[in-house]
Amino acid sequence: MYIISACLAGENCKYNGGNNYNESVCQFTKKHNCIMICPETDGGLDTPRPPAEQIRSEERCARKIKVINKEGRDVTEEFYRGAEISLRKAEELAGELGEPVEGAILKANSPSCGAGTVYDGTFSGKLIKGDGIFAGMLKERGIPVETR
Ligand code: SF4
Repeated sequence: MYIISACLAGENCKYNGGNNYNESVCQFTKKHNCIMICPETDGGLDTPRPPAEQIRSEERCARKIKVINKEGRDVTEEFYRGAEISLRKAEELAGELGEPVEGAILKANSPSCGAGTVYDGTFSGKLIKGDGIFAGMLKERGIPVETR
């Protein structure tokens, strides 16, 4: 079973009320058992919502990464709560199907779903190395993550 960022499958859960529809991802979902998930909405954030970015600093590296939205509101708790809820949903479905979670296809650069690179917290479009909160949680469990 695979985890898919819901916005890649065309769900209008993106911060601006739109989606990131990806044809090849949709074709993939037709051939495999998949769960479409949006960790930010699972965390209780509205759609549309202000965009948010991770704030990374040396002293925070070993602790929770902070997430701030463009209006300056700290949404760290919503991001972590949503990631945990999304992971639980995926594990429950995998259990019902009797299949392992084999991998995830997530939206690139997102503060939740990005893997390898995320925006740098300045809302200027600059990328830095790092994983989204949800993607990082999956990686910690050994689940392979790809992005689109
Ligand atoms: S990138 Fe992830 S958190 Fe953002 S809208 Fe898509 S599924 Fe939701």
